Amino acid sequence: MSKYHQKISHQEAVAIARSAFSTGRTKDVNFRLKQLRQLLRMYEENNDEILLALKKDMRKSKLEGYLYEVELMVNDVREAIRHLRTWTKPKWLRKNWLTFADKGKIERVPFGVVLVIGPWNYPFQLTLVPLCGAIAAGNCVIVKPSEVSVHSAAKMAELIPKYLDPECYHVVMGGPTESEELLKNKFDHIFFTGSIQVGRKIHQAAARHLTPVTLELGGKSPVYIDNTVDYAMAAQRIMWGKCMNMGQTCVAPDFIICTKEVEKAFIAEVKNAMQAWYGSDWKSKPDLARIINAKHFNRLKSYLLNSGKVAVGGGYDEDDLWIEPSILVDVKVTDPIMQEEVFGPILPIVNMNSVVEAIKYINGRNSVPLCMYVFSADRGVQSLFENHVSAGTFACNETIVQFAIDELPFGGAGESGMGTYHGKFSFDAFSRDRACVYRDFSYLADKLGVFRYPPYSVLKINF
Ligand code: NAD
Repeated sequence: MSKYHQKISHQEAVAIARSAFSTGRTKDVNFRLKQLRQLLRMYEENNDEILLALKKDMRKSKLEGYLYEVELMVNDVREAIRHLRTWTKPKWLRKNWLTFADKGKIERVPFGVVLVIGPWNYPFQLTLVPLCGAIAAGNCVIVKPSEVSVHSAAKMAELIPKYLDPECYHVVMGGPTESEELLKNKFDHIFFTGSIQVGRKIHQAAARHLTPVTLELGGKSPVYIDNTVDYAMAAQRIMWGKCMNMGQTCVAPDFIICTKEVEKAFIAEVKNAMQAWYGSDWKSKPDLARIINAKHFNRLKSYLLNSGKVAVGGGYDEDDLWIEPSILVDVKVTDPIMQEEVFGPILPIVNMNSVVEAIKYINGRNSVPLCMYVFSADRGVQSLFENHVSAGTFACNETIVQFAIDELPFGGAGESGMGTYHGKFSFDAFSRDRACVYRDFSYLADKLGVFRYPPYSVLKINF
């Protein structure tokens, strides 16, 4: 066992990482590629253990664990390995009459020692996809997984030092108290995924050192449905996004806006879809996860009991941390469920009679949604939402997929976050453009710039 596998304090971890960064070895592209290949090996050799940790934490199904945690991460690392040499290539300056004696370039340089703080809902993906970007960009990294997903955090702490350079990459464990202590250290960038409330604290802590941040936060993502849709398809796509990980997904549809007429047709198709997917005993199906803990269970149960009327589902079982996927109707915008992000399998429907009313309500909420979902076959309606609602991401007639496409930048806006990542955007999130100019001591280069030297009066220009 190396000394780095033994418990060290967060200050020591940061100091070791800083000293490793100063050696310059993470700037070597071959070193980065080696680490990324090791990260890939880590996933491949521990696939079953990762899936088991997810099952223990929230009874995540094998398929969801495999697709949305392992496969998503593996694809991201493969993409970085495939393109790293291109991403790191400097861009040389085109010459003009002022710069023709110079060479200039823009290069992407790493920030230095960066901190990645992860949430519990997709603990591996949302902690290790940023880690991949940070390694690719040439940083040393301190990773702080969420303490709430206990088994996944322990697995990361066990695996990362085994596979990656133990001086450059560290896992620091703990909850809010340890995290606050950790944030007293100076970092060169902080990448945080979690709630808006904690996001504010991270931003404040970062400001003490003027550290730049990427904040991937939450919020309420609205779904608008009109009567031009294929109801069966719309119901399946929306309920898939809501049932995945039992709604404990930052990009899950949070609430629906539609008319009473649309609501009726939509709910009929939701019932058909749920019957086809889970039969009549949903609770016994291994495809549905559980709520992460009693605190979140009680929060969700209170929504069920205090907002609107149950139209689908409505069951719960505290001993099993089970909340049935549910749809609530007759929900008022003043109901408790409409005040905060649901982050669970409950979907409230608020009735509104026009696109204008819906847009006005969404924009008046005083927080920018992470995602705006529009279900309509009408291009005009799609454009109205696209052009008039400020949201981190936008999807038409689908949910979640905009998160999964590597070529698209993912991130929030306003209260739902700042900065984007995924694929090349992760590399960009963890590096910055640096301008470099090279001039030589040739006669020509010198004469070109001689006019700038005093006395300025030789130019005979009167200012
Ligand atoms: P959280 O904010 O409670 O915790 C996130 C991380 O912050 C954890 O590692 C936790 O230990 C740490 N933390 C908690 N309190 C802290 C403090 N006072 N100071 C410093 N660090 C602290 O979030 P969560 O419950 O793990 O995740 C759920 C939230 O995250 C939801 O709002 C969800 O929408 C959001 N989320 C966003 C995305 C995204 O990509 N935008 C992805 C997943 C989750």
